Amino acid sequence: MSGSKKRIFIKTFGCQMNVYDSEQMANLLRPMGYDEVDEAAAADLVVLNTCHIREKAAEKVYSDLGRLRQLKETRAEKGETMQIAVAGCVAQAEGAEIRRRAPVVDFVVGPQSYQRLPQMLKGEAGPLATDFAVDEKFERLAKKRAANSPTAFVTVQEGCDKFCAFCVVPYTRGAEHSRPADEIINEVRALVRHGVREVTLLGQNVNAWGANSEDGWGLGALIRHLAQIDDLSRIRYTTSHPRDMDEDLINAHGEIEALMPYLHLPVQSGSDTVLKAMNRGHSMAMYQKLIDKVRAKRPDIAISGDFIVGFPGETDADFEATLQAVRDIGYASAYSFKYSRRPGTPGAGREDQVPETVKSERLQVLQALLNAQQLEFNNSQIGNTVPVLFDKKGRHDGQICGRSPYLQSVYVQGPASLIGKIASVNISGAGRNALNGVLDQEAFVTA
Ligand code: SF4
Repeated sequence: MSGSKKRIFIKTFGCQMNVYDSEQMANLLRPMGYDEVDEAAAADLVVLNTCHIREKAAEKVYSDLGRLRQLKETRAEKGETMQIAVAGCVAQAEGAEIRRRAPVVDFVVGPQSYQRLPQMLKGEAGPLATDFAVDEKFERLAKKRAANSPTAFVTVQEGCDKFCAFCVVPYTRGAEHSRPADEIINEVRALVRHGVREVTLLGQNVNAWGANSEDGWGLGALIRHLAQIDDLSRIRYTTSHPRDMDEDLINAHGEIEALMPYLHLPVQSGSDTVLKAMNRGHSMAMYQKLIDKVRAKRPDIAISGDFIVGFPGETDADFEATLQAVRDIGYASAYSFKYSRRPGTPGAGREDQVPETVKSERLQVLQALLNAQQLEFNNSQIGNTVPVLFDKKGRHDGQICGRSPYLQSVYVQGPASLIGKIASVNISGAGRNALNGVLDQEAFVTA
């Protein structure tokens, strides 16, 4: 490697917020000469952008660090330098402990302070940054984002005040914070100028966006403004909380063409007893009512959800209520997990933990039901003509891949020149994870 060019490898764990943060870290370091590479062995700087949502997350990071220590030693024997940074929620939760247990780590940066990485690398700041400097973070993020895909994530909201009894996010990402509307609109405009056709607005509680704003805007109002940007064809948002699903946002689903017919609205359990124990702040009836209202505005909307089975105290009857809720709602897709204890959360300290074997059995039953619903939803598309935004090449020669309005992956044989464009596809086949189709030759390609 010559001159001031350096190589950075970022390993991203967990959620879309982390994918966005990794992209931003790469953007922040690009002006310092860092180009991204695909493997740690070739990198001058390795960043582990960690997630704390699963059990033993910290242990997995330490085992990765053990492998990186060997790499770093091998590079040192060749007279080369490799620096290692741990970012994300494990960095936030463990703080200085990481460098004590793994001295191989050069820098520790929390999810709200990674904007300080350039200063840290230049030796202008200490090796640890884990405070909740959200305003400073968004101010310093690279304004010129590299848009190499027609789709982009834009973080609009960070943090959470809900304190669900199973979750560490309020402790690792801090209180709810909304980015100013003008900053978001400018970022989206810049992305569209670089060829982006679809943005996904991100937040831990994205529909709490604007909760503290002086102009009274909520997420629905923000979406209405974004929808006026020429050439922005599609808008999505994730992840929402039922408590923040207001009328304006629900109405937006019936009124804004660019707002895609897809709603990820976690419920976690179908039992009111468990929802209360989880401190979710809503009942199953409230959730069902929200879904009914959204479907009244947008009948074809695809509903996606999150479920946790085996929260402490969950009985067979509680679990049956979850299965019934899934049957009643009908999910197009869902994420489901076994409850795992997160240190410091109320659920972790409870004595009525559900045995692992019971959690595993329940998860299997729930996933079988959810998988069947997903396949059924995908099958229902066969014979339809749907607009697909193509964003990459497929796995086979001459194949391209894109997303339907319902966020399904769609594969067709077609020219790479369609990547970045929306074209109509006749859906001819479906599996649980993707659809296949044929380009509608008659159809108008919209861009
Ligand atoms: S709403 Fe609950 S699950 Fe979601 S981030 Fe906040 S505390 Fe965690």
